Amino acid sequence: MLVDGDKCIGCGFCVRDCPVEAVRIVKKKAQIDPLRCTACGVCVRVCEQGAVTAAAERPEAALECGHCPIKCWVPPSGIGACHRYRNQDGRLVRTTPLVPFAAVREIVGPDPRPEIRQPVVTAIGAGTTYPCCKPAPHIVRERRGAVDVVTVVTEVPLSYSSVIVKVDTDIPIGKEGAAVYAGKREVGMVETEQYGSKMLHIGGVNRLTGPNGFAVARTITDIANRKPVKLRIENGSRLLVQVGKPPVVDGREVAKMRVGCGSATLGIFAPLLKDAADEVVVLDAHITGLMSRHVAGTFAGVKPTGVALKFKQSTPGRYFGDHGAGWGGTSITDPLKVIDHIDMTVGWPGMTVLITETTGQNGALFEVGADGTLGEIPLTDKARFALKAIADSCEPSRVSAVYSAGSGGSARAGVTRFPIKLTQAVHAGKAHLTVGGAGGFIWPGGGISFLVDVERVLPGSFYWTPTPATICPLEYTMLVADYEAMGGHVAAMRPFKAVDPAGEEGEGGAG
Ligand code: SF4
Ligand code: SF4
Repeated sequence: MLVDGDKCIGCGFCVRDCPVEAVRIVKKKAQIDPLRCTACGVCVRVCEQGAVTAAAERPEAALECGHCPIKCWVPPSGIGACHRYRNQDGRLVRTTPLVPFAAVREIVGPDPRPEIRQPVVTAIGAGTTYPCCKPAPHIVRERRGAVDVVTVVTEVPLSYSSVIVKVDTDIPIGKEGAAVYAGKREVGMVETEQYGSKMLHIGGVNRLTGPNGFAVARTITDIANRKPVKLRIENGSRLLVQVGKPPVVDGREVAKMRVGCGSATLGIFAPLLKDAADEVVVLDAHITGLMSRHVAGTFAGVKPTGVALKFKQSTPGRYFGDHGAGWGGTSITDPLKVIDHIDMTVGWPGMTVLITETTGQNGALFEVGADGTLGEIPLTDKARFALKAIADSCEPSRVSAVYSAGSGGSARAGVTRFPIKLTQAVHAGKAHLTVGGAGGFIWPGGGISFLVDVERVLPGSFYWTPTPATICPLEYTMLVADYEAMGGHVAAMRPFKAVDPAGEEGEGGAG
């Protein structure tokens, strides 16, 4: 890396961001230590003065790492930008050895013992006790092998509750943080994207207790019960979401989820795409890929083509896309518009360029003329085959949702007279929490906050009440011995066969 002392103002951005601490400020100018520098390019990218440029040639003693697109030049005795690889005596080796499971068993922690993984009875149809200090509606015991287990069930009203909805689409639906509406009521917000999916957060305690609380509670419940729900994003799309079904975005059903970003698509299909065209551009809003400059293209033996794209380069062959209603979720509706120019000292007349997107659904083939202009030609069989291979590798788009809630409050009193002991037992894996029989994920830290995939819960099991709160069927299953030790309502325990499925509520009935 070379620093232009005339341009450098000594701001220190490169010092702050250099992953291997190779930069120092000396006399108000950046100085790069060649014995540490890996040429990862971070300093080039963060320097707002354009004072750093990449060295053209790798120092002889540095090893090129090919384990990710950065392709560090790891100096002798130095480490790569990610700190995972080091140059040890002229060999690239991992900085930490491969770790067997036995070495992390204690950190991973125990799974619940098999006898308590499934509840004796679910809380679906159990009812609610109110006030919570009365025993839960059903406390049911059963003998499993050599041990007695008990399940405590309640349909718990939870004001700390929401659904996180995953909508598989590469179509932009609205900005992160934008409000989500059901009718005219604000019920949630757009969250950050996940791989190939847009994420919505519907509900949460502040929305449930705010002016739109009833609409919020109904929307959470409808989504969790897998009903179709119409949503509108502030300054964005209209959605029809139903868990388990393809999303409908602005009236169009989304069929395919993208195979990965444009770089991943090249990473998977470069050998096939090489047969389809001399150059391939895979449009994607996150990372658009250019085959000839991408590490997968060079690995597959693709020649340089001189094609330059309009997007800003991240690493060779990988470009940050933009967002729009065009191909691959970019603004590009005319595929040729992604090409900035072709350097015809590198490219050649007759060279072919295939432009597609990460679902392989759109594709166009072009041929380069003598003057470097591109003319569209019909897709060849090989190009069609490659596009089909991408499309066939895409999973169907669908909507999924996890219900997220906290049950660390008063509802614990229906289980035990010492609620903290229930919290501790849940975190220790001694009391197993299930929702309608489905195991969930318990957040670490205080309280009992959990996530559960709603598709593992019988549809119609979630309700809402105008407190407002959503109502979730919740079960805690544990050894009877542990239940006794935590101060559980043992006097209310009954054998499973004594439970009336018709739902006679008795003294502790629904409030
Ligand atoms: S980021 Fe650029 S201007 Fe700032 S210290 Fe580094 S080289 Fe100099
Ligand atoms: S894997 Fe690590 S060392 Fe290798 S190129 Fe990437 S950042 Fe550098």
